[in-house]
Amino acid sequence: MSKRAYNFNAGPAALPLEVLERAQAEFVDFRESGMSIMEMSHRGAIYESVHNEAQQRLLSLLGNPTGYKVLFTQGGASTQFAMIPLNFLSEGKVGSYVMTGSWADKAYKEAKLVGGVHVAASSEEQKFLKIPELSSIKAADNAAYLHVTSNETIEGTQYAEFPDSGSIPLIGDMSSDILSRAFDVNKFGLIYAGAQKNLGPSGVTVVIAKEELIAESPSHIPTILRYSTHTKNNSLYNTPPSFSVYMVNEVLKWIEEQGGLAGVESKNREKAGLLYEYIDGSDGFYRGVADPGSRSIMNVTFRMQSEDLEKQFVKAAELEGFIGLKGHRSVGGLRASIYNAVPYENVKALADFMKHFRQTQG
Ligand SMILES: *Cc1c(COP(=O)(O)O)cnc(C)c1O
Repeated sequence: MSKRAYNFNAGPAALPLEVLERAQAEFVDFRESGMSIMEMSHRGAIYESVHNEAQQRLLSLLGNPTGYKVLFTQGGASTQFAMIPLNFLSEGKVGSYVMTGSWADKAYKEAKLVGGVHVAASSEEQKFLKIPELSSIKAADNAAYLHVTSNETIEGTQYAEFPDSGSIPLIGDMSSDILSRAFDVNKFGLIYAGAQKNLGPSGVTVVIAKEELIAESPSHIPTILRYSTHTKNNSLYNTPPSFSVYMVNEVLKWIEEQGGLAGVESKNREKAGLLYEYIDGSDGFYRGVADPGSRSIMNVTFRMQSEDLEKQFVKAAELEGFIGLKGHRSVGGLRASIYNAVPYENVKALADFMKHFRQTQG
């Protein structure tokens, strides 16, 4: 077999090798149908069984919370930025947003195009390098929802715990940390995530929501943008991204095999712990970007003494097969995305490479 890269891409990102191999084995002839899953009708029994299985598996991994439904939508998490205000903001209501960084900002700006918005808390003064204190997060009295970004993929920060929003529905963009750790789904009215970081390939966006929130939508918004359209049609109103949904189902099976959320969480904490410990112990050669109390276990952001040295690091790393370590173009620096599918051994290899690189710099 050809050599696999040490893939630290931020998204699309590494997928479990076992999943890729399984998909390869049944690529041409899926369940003895004589065709691949991409070639069959989304209204047929085979596809529908995969579709329903993926929904059930996702809920089961989340502890089968009562009253929740899973939707498969398209257009990425970015389309959810628009669908949320379109569906939930009525006259006199506002969307309350916790401003934690680049993705929260995009969600907020999109809502502003649709209706009233409110800032529930912000860490802009701290350059978005920490998550605001939970006690400082206050939704507006007329809030239709409170929106949080559970993990800021670009800055490398993550909520350790989520705010309690009382009777106001809590909405979470979990694109870059969904299923990376155990959490209480019941705190949330709606969760969404583009699949391409922790759930599978790009092309499908998962929405997990309380049924009462997505049962009815305003009739003046386009049909395809109503949650109710997808709810009533079991996400089969139009052609779903069938191959992506199939891959998500395979990734969910793999997570089950890792011991569910508890299993992946302990591995993720080991991986992140290894990198942060090495960074912190490097006498300032590498410096963690995020405030220690808000560090992400998915996206480890760090810097070196100069941009020139960072460039050299990225180049030397690529020669050794370490891919995707350049920070997002908007913030610079370095970033190792260590989603569920990145094996511990690869993170260990990266830490060893960092050690080696430091030695070569005298
Ligand atoms: C990647 C990402 C998005 C954007 O997802 P798309 O599927 O590209 O629209 C939104 N939010 C977060 C937190 C992300 O990491």
